Amino acid sequence: MEEPALEQPLEWDSPLFRQALTQLEQALPAAEIEESVAERLRFPERALMVSVPIRLDDDSVRVFAGYRVQHSTVLGPTKGGVRYDSEVSLGECAALAMWMTWKCALLRLPYGGAKGGVRCNARELSKAELQRLTRRYTTELIGAIGPDRDIPAPDMATNEQTMAWMMDTYSMQTGYVVPEIVTGKPVALGGSLFRHEATGAGVVMVIERACERLGWKLAEQRCVVQGFGNVGGIAASELHQKGAKVIAVSDISGGVHDAAGLDIPALHAYVEENGSLEGYDRCERITNEELLELPCDILVLAAREDQVTARNAHKVRAKLIAEGANGPTSNEADAILGEGGILVLPDILTNAGGVTVSYFEWVQDLGRLFWTRDEIRARLAEKLNDAFDRVWELAAEKEIPLRNAALVAAVREVAGALVARGIFP
Ligand code: GLU
Repeated sequence: MEEPALEQPLEWDSPLFRQALTQLEQALPAAEIEESVAERLRFPERALMVSVPIRLDDDSVRVFAGYRVQHSTVLGPTKGGVRYDSEVSLGECAALAMWMTWKCALLRLPYGGAKGGVRCNARELSKAELQRLTRRYTTELIGAIGPDRDIPAPDMATNEQTMAWMMDTYSMQTGYVVPEIVTGKPVALGGSLFRHEATGAGVVMVIERACERLGWKLAEQRCVVQGFGNVGGIAASELHQKGAKVIAVSDISGGVHDAAGLDIPALHAYVEENGSLEGYDRCERITNEELLELPCDILVLAAREDQVTARNAHKVRAKLIAEGANGPTSNEADAILGEGGILVLPDILTNAGGVTVSYFEWVQDLGRLFWTRDEIRARLAEKLNDAFDRVWELAAEKEIPLRNAALVAAVREVAGALVARGIFP
């Protein structure tokens, strides 16, 4: 399908935003929603650009670009992560915010989508600098976020500590403690049990459900995992614990491969001690490109966007791809994989475990009543399985790919609410 023609490029126009927009266009025929509703959903509702000055440890001042894009408030306040990455831009945040809208709608969470971040290389900043960056960024966003307005969460290179600083900064400004302003906080501050593991564990729950439908035994599958952070690292552990053979993993320093199966706990211990997989020499070293082309049953893409593209899609030798990251497969690659009979479990379903437990965290904070780990795990599995089944059945009914079906199901949820509410005034 041709890329949608924008009359005049808008400020958030970017290759990634066009990818998101093309996916929306591809979903519209089967979604059968009013054109006026589709037109509204092509635009983020709000986009905020801020500059974030901080004093570095050497006493010099540096200014970073920060963003927050809120795509839709049709179903509730907006929700989505904050990333610290050198590729953060308005266009990237706009695409990721739109995907968050679909993700929340598909999981039937009462939220619209948002995404934000600061363009920086987090690895080059000290902990003190990251704290100052986070507090100043939060202060710049203060009028735009809030427990009933927009609730941030971790994303690339942000974590529980980042959320603790955001929560403290917001609480200091309001004058009382507001744990429900962010999710993915430390448990001691009102964070939820199982939030840390939720995205990676959710990826494996979705893979398990897919295996059931395909008549495969998870324990017999050979898996490759791109990314060894909060999503890929935990997905690799879950796969390993369930008896599947994880034959390769990678991070920014490259990949490690052992056809006989990797020792995942040993790799985690190594990364804990050394900061990355760099220098791990107890098995074959491979590049990230080689990792994507390894023959395997299940390939988990848990690094970042734009990994499988027209350039390498025909070299992928997996039978099933699970998208732990947001937007790792380009639209051209989707078509190539589809022709090759490779099934793609789409991001808005596969990595939705994170935001689902974020929702549980927000509900627990608002109610000041906390649930057990088993209860959260069971509720997460129930939500993911329900969304998976709706997507699987829609794909079969309409004879469309799973991504398309996930988008159709999500867009219909938002469209139904938007038609009922109407366009203001
Ligand atoms: N950043 C995560 C995502 O892309 C989680 C968002 C959240 O928990 O609000 O889904």
